[in-house]
Amino acid sequence: MDYQNNLAYAKNLDIEDPLRLYRDKFYIPKQKNGKDHIYLCGNSLGLQPRSTRKYIEQELNDWEKLGVEGHFEAKNPWMSYHEILTDKMSKIVGAKANEVVVMNSLTVNLHLMMVSFYRPSSKRYKILIEGNAFPSDQYAVKSQIEFHGYDVADALIELIPRKGEKTMRIEDILKLIKEEGDTIVLIMIGGLNYYTGQAFDMKAITKAGHEKGCFVGFDLAHGAGNLPLQLHDWQVDFAVWCTYKYLNSGPGGVAGCFVHENHVKDSTIKRFTGWWGHEKATRFLMDDTFVPIESAEGWQLSNAPILSMAALHASLDIFEKVGMKAIQNKAENLTGYLEYLLIELQHDAIEIITPKNAAGRGSQLSIQVKNSDKSLFKKITKKGVIADWREPDVIRVAPIPLYNSYADVFSFVAILKECLNQ
Ligand SMILES: *Cc1c(COP(=O)(O)O)cnc(C)c1O
Repeated sequence: MDYQNNLAYAKNLDIEDPLRLYRDKFYIPKQKNGKDHIYLCGNSLGLQPRSTRKYIEQELNDWEKLGVEGHFEAKNPWMSYHEILTDKMSKIVGAKANEVVVMNSLTVNLHLMMVSFYRPSSKRYKILIEGNAFPSDQYAVKSQIEFHGYDVADALIELIPRKGEKTMRIEDILKLIKEEGDTIVLIMIGGLNYYTGQAFDMKAITKAGHEKGCFVGFDLAHGAGNLPLQLHDWQVDFAVWCTYKYLNSGPGGVAGCFVHENHVKDSTIKRFTGWWGHEKATRFLMDDTFVPIESAEGWQLSNAPILSMAALHASLDIFEKVGMKAIQNKAENLTGYLEYLLIELQHDAIEIITPKNAAGRGSQLSIQVKNSDKSLFKKITKKGVIADWREPDVIRVAPIPLYNSYADVFSFVAILKECLNQ
């Protein structure tokens, strides 16, 4: 697009934005002076849909009036509540309904998936992960390696960018898989790296991993509700994601999990089990032999957290209405506009480390601050911007298609400019 560097132009883009009416469907946090914050932190905690309260109240009311009968008699019976979410969620990640389940939290699901897909042997025992992976993923992966009695220094391979580069090249990832794949059990990468904002070519990585006999799983904390995903077609073995970032389910909201259809009926795959993963027809016979549901639901442990699911339900209904295509179209333009304005600043104290091509990123730019402490970030925060600081030197900025405007992006860069020149 041929962007222009002025507020009138940004406001005009907002008028022409097909998603313009959706901003009003969310609560935008307010500054002390009553003005809206410039909220660019939906990659950390998505904003609250105005409809969320109604969805939760429905369940509170049914609980109030029905007590335990709500499992069958509630407007949305609690016994099968998670199934409503399955259909909506599977469209967001490009999966079949039998491949998706909403349960637990992200790191819990990651451990459950590694119980099934990280089964090391003396010849093949390694895990491949991205070098600057999110800490929880690193802890989870390292603890699994140690749990199985292997040495992290030997069994964990980390993807590191070339010297002088900030992000990974796909050809380097594929080459590493080709060279070392014979000893790798599991490739487990963040579909979009939380720090750099780099989106990986999951299709190519999965194919390369499978050619070497590895399982391939993705952490989609920053992918779900953001990137175009085709988990089924790409033959991804498993994926896990939280829903409180791009999917607006509220703090600590219930997470998502994908297990490819190729595995859901495979009784040779080990797993940790709980009663909610047991075949539905006979679950309440309380028999002591576990018979798994032959879908991703077979990995469920416990009965579902309905109040948290109600909040997710509210948001997924918005996603269903808008569709990922429209979200991604706006994401590309909105992030593109942010990038354009940052480049226009021509300030050598900052550098965008996120890839430049639209396929290599989502709704986030990571701005590296040169030779600076956190002071620039503190200044923009004081002026009403809510973004996110990551040590040692990165400001992450995420313009979210559903509720951020082009004017938000313009105002943010204007504030950044002012603070840079102070
Ligand atoms: C946000 C995030 C998490 C958070 O994990 P929880 O179990 O939900 O606390 C984990 N991994 C990545 C990559 C994340 O971005």
